Amino acid sequence: MKIVTDSPKKLCEKLEVAKRQLKNAETREEQMAISNYIYLLDESINLVSPGTEISTYKLYYFNYKINELFDKKYFVHEEKMIRNYLEHKEFHSKFFEILSKKTNHIIHKIEEDEYSGVTTLTEEEYYNIFFEFMNKLGLAKYFDKYVKARRIYTTSTYLENNVLGYILFNPITKDSDIFIGDLEYDIFSMFTLAHEFGHIYDLNNFDKDIGSYNGYFYRSFNGEAISKTFERLFIDFLIENNILTNEAKDQLFDLINSNYEFLLASYIISLIPDILLINDIYLELSPTKIYKLVERYFSKKNHIRKFINKCGNLELKETYTYAYGDVYSMFLKDRIKEDNYSLDSLNEFFEIRSELFNPKMLDKLNINTNSYVKLYKKDIELLKKQSK
Ligand SMILES: [Zn+2]
Repeated sequence: MKIVTDSPKKLCEKLEVAKRQLKNAETREEQMAISNYIYLLDESINLVSPGTEISTYKLYYFNYKINELFDKKYFVHEEKMIRNYLEHKEFHSKFFEILSKKTNHIIHKIEEDEYSGVTTLTEEEYYNIFFEFMNKLGLAKYFDKYVKARRIYTTSTYLENNVLGYILFNPITKDSDIFIGDLEYDIFSMFTLAHEFGHIYDLNNFDKDIGSYNGYFYRSFNGEAISKTFERLFIDFLIENNILTNEAKDQLFDLINSNYEFLLASYIISLIPDILLINDIYLELSPTKIYKLVERYFSKKNHIRKFINKCGNLELKETYTYAYGDVYSMFLKDRIKEDNYSLDSLNEFFEIRSELFNPKMLDKLNINTNSYVKLYKKDIELLKKQSK
């Protein structure tokens, strides 16, 4: 049984299909969604097999009309997102202020922990562990389908910009592939695989129109909620079944820390004046400038200065998508487990995920800062309980 694929052949066929779809697309939203898929396909083909000359790049993505249209549409989505953000800025600010303060405190106590080594698994062990995890979620056949159809790809090098993996998803046919950068048979790539399967599961269950589909990516902050839910489920699965327990705990430790960083970064962004956010959505302000703008809100100034320096670019959309992804996933995971691992618990979230942010979304799912902190402490307990 071979899990990963490194031949671009099928991707090239998919590219031909997508090109035809683009020609036949009836609406601008459809064109936007397909051209984004084509762009990623083209990049992926070259990642799997460097030097494969398929210049969809020139032919399609940079086709003047499509490119202009994409930018225009993208701009409309982006504008809606930022306006919606400013409308609820005070809410975001309060919410992430509380979360970053309450979680910071706990993190400090366990910061000294040491990491265990990383086990290299055989392909069979790797397959079996992941199969059991997917089986727990009722997705064993689903996983097998991807393995048999050779839809899990690896690349010969790491991906750029700290990306660990990503998916290709045809918005019309729902055909999909998973990419893991430089896959080794260990817990790290399995964790990424769980994350990417979350994305696939999420999009396969997307039944709204293509405009909402684009909106989901470009306007909402909800795009990482399901993928992060799968991450959390995977870690819990390992710890509860004593599989690679110490390494799973290390992953949980990293997850808690990186989530905390997104919560704090979200709070920091919310302290930046509106006008700067409107004019510079990617926040290309220097860390020094950002620090000057926000320092008066913090007592531990040194900690904040170091943190901002470490973050470098604070991009609003990405930061909030990961921060809310963390928040949602905390609750969604808990629900799924209480519901005997039934993924039907996600349906309520599926209903609202493509909408613009509204605090009522959180109410609907019973999400608030107090209950977040409670669940957070449960994670910390899980971390402490097992012997190292
Ligand atoms: Zn993701």
